Amino acid sequence: MATLGIPSNTIEILKKYNFSFQKRFGQNFLIDTHVLEKIVDEAGIDEDDCVLEIGPGIGTMTQYLCERAGRVIAVEIDKALIPILNDTLSSYSNVEIINEDILKVDITNLCNKYNNGRPIKVVANLPYYITTPIIMGLFESGCPLESITIMVQKEVADRMKCGPGSKDYGALSLAVQFYSNPEIVANVSPESFIPKPGVGSSVIRLTRYPKPPVEVDDEKYMFKLIRAAFNMRRKTMVNSLMSSNLGLTKKEILSAIDKLNLSPQVRGEALTLNEFAALSNILSKANK
Ligand code: SAM
Repeated sequence: MATLGIPSNTIEILKKYNFSFQKRFGQNFLIDTHVLEKIVDEAGIDEDDCVLEIGPGIGTMTQYLCERAGRVIAVEIDKALIPILNDTLSSYSNVEIINEDILKVDITNLCNKYNNGRPIKVVANLPYYITTPIIMGLFESGCPLESITIMVQKEVADRMKCGPGSKDYGALSLAVQFYSNPEIVANVSPESFIPKPGVGSSVIRLTRYPKPPVEVDDEKYMFKLIRAAFNMRRKTMVNSLMSSNLGLTKKEILSAIDKLNLSPQVRGEALTLNEFAALSNILSKANK
């Protein structure tokens, strides 16, 4: 039975193993059964699913996942947590505990090994210090992926969800919205964790698109363009792209912007994903 969501049970395990929290690993463990149930419900897990959990901690959410999923792969960086996980998950036969840094794991390999290459679901209360590299790594690895349901810092969830005109809009919003449909499904207060984080949290579900919503000839080039556009947020697109290492002339950039009926003064933060895709399709050709 999943019992670790109850605060007194978590505290008992932490004491039993004399566990000390590692700030450098972003360790804030969940102690709220409602939040745990909500995450697993929103991830839509059933016995046909293979779930990758990033950072299982002492196994609190892992217990919930093991009860619903066919298989759970739990990747934890902190060596000190492995004996604890072996203890708290000992009654489940469908879990694989892997002591690795998720940023160094070949996720496609994991999908092949544990799910015959079929799409997996990722569920996690993420370590906040590496939220963006984890999400980008999952999408860019090209591993078979159905959805990612994760607890993140509230502002980061807002950044993934927002569109042009918002101060939070940037490269992360565009990348997430290129690969998936983001939905914020819950806001969570610091009281639901031990120790309490200094920031608010949200649960966001990213449902992978079978095919991106825009047509792009060269994805890598589009993302280089996006990064260059947001590198110098307060500059116009023309100035940002000219100061980048994309090797574009002012004439090429102005002509592409004009073809899209945009103002020569336009800034990157005003462009939609569609417009970035169109600009990329024009400029990647101009650049060959
Ligand atoms: N899932 C647990 C829970 O909800 O109670 C713990 C969540 S805690 C926010 C983040 C977890 O990720 C910690 O257990 C931490 O040790 C682990 N972690 C941090 N960096 C990691 C990395 N690079 N690879 C794998 N796990 C990592």
